[in-house]
Order: sequence, then C-alpha cells, then structure tokens
Amino acid sequence: MCYSIPGKVIAVKAGRAIIDYFGEKREAHTDTEGVEVGDFVLAQGGVVVETVPDGAAGEILSSWQETFERLKARDLELSNVKPPKEGVSEDIAAIMERVLEGETLTKDEMLRVLQTENSSDTQLVTFTANLIRSKEQGNSACVHGIIEFSNNCSLDCAYCGIGKSNIDLTRYRLSTEEIIKSAEQAVKTKGFKALVLQSGEDAYYTTDKLKEIIASIKKRVKVMIALSIGDRGIDDYKALYEAGARGALMRFETSNEGLYSALHSSPLKERLDTINALKDMGYLVMTGSLFGLPGQSDEDIVDDMLLTKEIAPEMFSSGPFIPHPSTELGKSGMEALTLNKALRILALTRLIDKKGSILITTAFEKLFGVEGTRRALLSGGNSMMVNLTPYPYSALYSIYPGKGSASELGKRIEFVITLLMELGRSPSEISVRGAE
Ligand code: SAH
Repeated sequence: MCYSIPGKVIAVKAGRAIIDYFGEKREAHTDTEGVEVGDFVLAQGGVVVETVPDGAAGEILSSWQETFERLKARDLELSNVKPPKEGVSEDIAAIMERVLEGETLTKDEMLRVLQTENSSDTQLVTFTANLIRSKEQGNSACVHGIIEFSNNCSLDCAYCGIGKSNIDLTRYRLSTEEIIKSAEQAVKTKGFKALVLQSGEDAYYTTDKLKEIIASIKKRVKVMIALSIGDRGIDDYKALYEAGARGALMRFETSNEGLYSALHSSPLKERLDTINALKDMGYLVMTGSLFGLPGQSDEDIVDDMLLTKEIAPEMFSSGPFIPHPSTELGKSGMEALTLNKALRILALTRLIDKKGSILITTAFEKLFGVEGTRRALLSGGNSMMVNLTPYPYSALYSIYPGKGSASELGKRIEFVITLLMELGRSPSEISVRGAE
C-alpha cells in the first residue's frame, strides 16, 4: 500500500507548482486544469495527479503528521551516523569535504571515487551521499508500479533476455482489458499513483491501441502513466502524450557509441535524439544506463553518469547489468559488478545531482538482495519500483534471469513499504524533485 499525502500549492508558474509538505518545498509539473495557489494536491513522479478537497486533505494531514515527524527524525538520526575516519584515503576524505561545501566533482575525482577499492572509502562516500540526500531531498521516497504487458520484442539487444532470438521463451501479451484492469486495481486497491507500462518492442500494440489503453486508465483512475515501450516515432509519442501519458522510461544504456551499436544494432544518437525529443514534448523522462557491461570501462561509467545528468531527467534509472544465459553476453562469462562498486555508482550519482530522484532498480535488488537494497537506500537512492505484472507473466518478462514469482506481489509491496519506513523514509507521493 502506498500512502497519499496531499501538499498545499504555494505557487504556480509556467506549468510547475511549488508544493509545501509540512514545511518542505517540492516542485511538480502541472497540466491539471485549474490548479491554484491554496489547493491541496497529490503529486507523484513529478506530476500533480489530482486535487484533494480541503476537508479531506486536512484529515489526512493531521493523521499523518505524527508518523511523518517520526520518520523524519529516524532519517536524520541514521543519516548522521558518521563512519569511522580510520582507513579512509586522504584524497577521498578531501573530495567528500569539498562536495559537502558545495563544490562540483571533476571527472577525475569521480573516477577516483569509483575506482577506490578501500571499504572505508566506500563507507565515507556512501555516508556523504546519504547525508546530501537527506539534506536536499528530505525523507521522501517515490514508489512506482510497473506493469510489463508484453515480452514480445522485434529487437535482439545483446544484453536482454527477451530479444527475438531467444526461442526458448514463452511469449505473452496482456489484453487491452487486462492492462486496464491491472492498472485500475493497482491504483484502487494498492494506492499507486504512478505506473510504468513496459514492453519489448511490440508493434502488435499500435499507437491507437495504446491510446485507448492510456485514455481508459485515465478515465477510470487518477494516476501518472509512464511508458517504457522503446523506439517509436515522434508522432506516435506525441499522440500518446495527448492520450494522457506523462512519463517516459527510456535508457540510453551506455554512453559509449561503439559499445551501444555493438549491443543494440542501431546508433546511440538515434536513442538520444528520441530521449531529448520526449523531453521537449513535455514527457517527464526517466533515463540512465546499464552498469557492468562487458567492454564497458570505468571512464564509460563516469561518462554515463554525466550524460544522465546532462539530460536532466525526472528520475535517474541506471542499474546493474545481470547476464542472461540465453543471450550472447550471458554466455560470454564475465565478472559481475560488486556491491561496493554498485553503491559507489549510486552515491556518485547523488553527489553530482543533489536534488535528483534516484531509482534503485529491480535488477539491483535482484543482484544484491535485501541487505544490498537497504545499503543502496543509505547511499543516495530514494526511489523504488514494484512489479505489478500478474503471475505467471512476471516470470516470463525475463530481461534478466530469475524474475517474478507467484507469491511476489503482496509480499513485495509490504517489503518495500516496511524497508522504507524502517529507514525513516516516507513512502508517499511527495517524492517530486526538491524545489530549487
Ligand atoms: N523495449 C523497451 C523496454 C526494455 S526493458 C526499451 O527498449 O526501452 C527495460 C530495460 O531493461 C532496458 O532499457 C535495459 O536497460 C534493462 N535490461 C535489459 N536486459 C537487462 C539485463 N540483462 N540486466 C539488467 N537490465 C536489463
């Protein structure tokens, strides 16, 4: 269950509302008709999803205030537990000092932080990132739901287990009604306010079909819909925006052009052009890359982070690569990313974008388990995803191995909410970008 906490609009300017939550300011995109200063609104994923009548908002706020204060205190307590100074490299300590003073990391410094193999350094770096997250973004945590509606794919990306040449995979497509129902249920019974609709590159879902799905969901429930459907024409994306889609999850996968073309059989520029066009259209973009790909250097990883920052997405959605045995890359055998390195990547992302929303991907959770996820939340991460794809389809959406199980959903929601609250995070819709 996700919680719905209304905030009060204190300013509206150029399609953006500044919203106050118990004294904290957040900024969200608004195209909802008639959002005015003084209104109470629910915002999620960077978008004002609905307005709430004053009376109802007052009731929710007074019942939530005590919990909110308790969570905030817990977050402050945890984020101020300094790691021991012993064993920390002098230059890393100096770099972290400068970041805390507001200085921007150079590329060389980022590389140094990424490459340190000293665990005391990692502790200091992740502590600094968490402290900055707490100061700049507060304890808000964003929880999106994801519905993977088709594992059919016309592409053959070398990293991905649902590529068309995986002939062992049972393919599925959710019907229009199944997708709409899943979304409706997620909102009505679980309280989700932001949903990602994801699929392989599947032309079966024509733009008209997708428009119908989006419009029907929006008619039934108030929710932010984000699409993760890959390369489609600009006009298609325009039409889908008009039908009500507001978010787009599209990673550029790697900033290394040679590596991208080798993995994806198309030029990186095309993907980046699409991502930028989506932003220009008004989509709230979630983007990032895969870390730990064969042939990817540490310099590439730093470049990936800088490119993501340059795109200025609503959410950073980079995550580790997990080799899939049915793919070329999975067969090649390779060293997996270590947890400490994955944590330093997350932390560096926070250090270069202090107010960003930073997702801990489901691949990260899969690779590093509960303890890894907990540490990721204490290393700068502040967003999570819950897979809402009905079983057995969730297991068949095997972009990486071991996805989905029959008992997953209820437990998973409880796990995410319990983990977030235990760490003093507020699993509510208030995780829109911190106002400047
Ligand atoms: N067709 C859509 C959605 C693809 S699946 C698109 O291309 O945007 C969503 C993401 O899963 C991909 O962008 C990729 O980064 C990630 N992914 C694919 N295979 C993976 C693997 N083996 N390990 C981790 N993430 C993977």
